[in-house]
Amino acid sequence: PVWVAAQAQHVSQILWNLLDNAVKFTPDGGNIAVEVGRQEGKPFLSVKDSGVGIPEAEIDNIFERFYRVDKSRDRKTGGSGLGLAIVKRLVELSGGFVQVESRVGQGSTFTVVWPK
Ligand code: ADP
Repeated sequence: PVWVAAQAQHVSQILWNLLDNAVKFTPDGGNIAVEVGRQEGKPFLSVKDSGVGIPEAEIDNIFERFYRVDKSRDRKTGGSGLGLAIVKRLVELSGGFVQVESRVGQGSTFTVVWPK
């Protein structure tokens, strides 16, 4: 088990929002993996997908409220553009941060890291 000093409801909201995006932005037949562990002693949770990916220039913007990379694409999925803003806010409330690694056409990994 990996213990995190955060509100359980916040952790579950974070996981839900990241998984919801992974499902929305991964075409049928793709893969999604969730990993929990420690990096440099700090607890982390990551959600990895083999989906559409995010252009590098957009990565800083996706945490802004109501921001969506491709509005026409996202309208079909009904996204509000709030999910990641909420993730960032909730993680920061418990002193953690979010990392993103992504390549267009290959997929994305969102990793939430909490303090030791
Ligand atoms: P929503 O998913 O409601 O549109 P989010 O704040 O959760 O809003 O995400 C903002 C934008 O970031 C999404 O519209 C999408 O363009 C991009 N995004 C988020 N997660 C992923 C992902 N796993 N793969 C590709 N793009 C993503």
